[in-house]
Amino acid sequence: MPEPKQNYVNGEWVAAESGDTVDVTNPADTTEVVNTYHYGGESDANAAVEAASAAQGEWADMPAPDRGAILRETGAILEERKEELTELLTREEGKPLSSASGEVQRAIDIFYYYAEKAYDFGGTVKGASGGRTSVSTRKEPVGVAGLITPWNYPIAIPAWKMAPALATGNAVVLKPATQAPGPALELAKALDEAGAPDGIVNVVVGSGSSVGTTLTDSDDVDAVSFTGSTQVGLQVYDAATDDTKRAQAEMGGKNPTIVTDSADVDEAVDIVGVGAFGVTGQACTATSRAIVHTDVYDEFVAGITEYAESLDIGPGLDDPGMGPHVNEGEFESTLDYVDIAKTEGATHEFGGDRVDEGDLSDGYFVTPAVFSDVTPDMRIFQEEVFGPVLAVTEVEDFDEAIEVANNTEYGLSASVVTDDLAEAHEFVDRSESGVVKVNEKTTGLELHVPFGGYKQSSTNTFREQGDAAIDFFTQTKTVYMNH
Ligand code: NAD
Repeated sequence: MPEPKQNYVNGEWVAAESGDTVDVTNPADTTEVVNTYHYGGESDANAAVEAASAAQGEWADMPAPDRGAILRETGAILEERKEELTELLTREEGKPLSSASGEVQRAIDIFYYYAEKAYDFGGTVKGASGGRTSVSTRKEPVGVAGLITPWNYPIAIPAWKMAPALATGNAVVLKPATQAPGPALELAKALDEAGAPDGIVNVVVGSGSSVGTTLTDSDDVDAVSFTGSTQVGLQVYDAATDDTKRAQAEMGGKNPTIVTDSADVDEAVDIVGVGAFGVTGQACTATSRAIVHTDVYDEFVAGITEYAESLDIGPGLDDPGMGPHVNEGEFESTLDYVDIAKTEGATHEFGGDRVDEGDLSDGYFVTPAVFSDVTPDMRIFQEEVFGPVLAVTEVEDFDEAIEVANNTEYGLSASVVTDDLAEAHEFVDRSESGVVKVNEKTTGLELHVPFGGYKQSSTNTFREQGDAAIDFFTQTKTVYMNH
């Protein structure tokens, strides 16, 4: 039995003070324990915050390009370990190897990207009204950043919060999701080896209600960046802003793709199919609603049903079309939504069945589900399922399509498939979503563009990624110099 993996606090690998541990099982075969982790609590989180707080000033004083050099080296170390990290990610989270490999590459690229951004870290010079006076602004780190992340992108999301925070001179305490914490600890390991000073990077595995709330409540944490469900995100935001911490919460989605009457239906089926069933529908930007013009409705429903039927399901390590759910809770929740959709009167076209035969019976596998005739009052139209369940809704015209697309409390990502330029522009103008895409799937966004939602998908305080992340992790000082 391998030793439980430890937390990373103040430059050391340490056991949880309580001695508690947690097992992570393989979602494709729950008889296999992939890793056991020390399960931290409040005292472990406080030790991490204390270390971060003590070390941050010196890190902030280091020239930004020197911090960048450590990030660049971190990227290089991750790149050397890409294969091993990919396999770890798949074994803990379940996604197919090719998706996991893309995600690991994303984390590598993020470290390289912010390594270079560090060179430009500075401020602006402004015109001054008084003579012999100069006015400028400079960006300074916020201080200690508490980072709380979900399980569905267990290396990319920790990376896209850690790298900009570190590049700009903050110290971080990361609490990864317990379902797949391995990749986040691997980031700490790479940063350690790349020369990050003790205390600058801390990773504590533990529950949201102990480690998470310690970060949101601690007086020594200056900023909280959260990604996860809307329900938890709103609580985290309230707790963090209660004592005026800077906070951002990026949360759930119920993302639509509109298919207009001018669309190439085969193209629309591919776009929706990949968006809905890629990574088992467990993406915040997953396509969960297709809103389809009546003239192409029957053809689209037949096409997407065939797409779902043709997907091969299997363990992520075999790189199938679709892998398992991450854990029992997510698996049962998808099956519940399938029952709810049937009860509410949606037409069941295909899927939503537990796979309980053969080699897959020990994993959290569900066949991809398509429901048609879904109406906006149904729960599968309104609520985030976070599984491979697509709701298809028929509309009479383009105006109705936009209205129906906007008719949820979420607003993360939306797309349209159309051959009509005017419709494309109209869709961009009228979509209540933080990300809008024309003739593309709702999932996927490059690392340098702002990412965040409207409505209940985000607190809309700051965006993530690119320059937006630098804004979140810095504060601006305005300097008057009368000489
Ligand atoms: P979750 O909200 O259950 O958990 C997210 C993190 O918050 C975990 O680390 C969890 O331990 C922690 N947490 C739980 N309670 C807490 C508390 N009271 N205080 C502090 N921390 C707490 O989400 P999940 O199941 O891990 O992830 C899936 C969700 O994440 C989906 O809703 C998905 O849409 C969303 N998500 C959003 C984005 C985005 O960028 N908008 C990206 C990926 C995932």
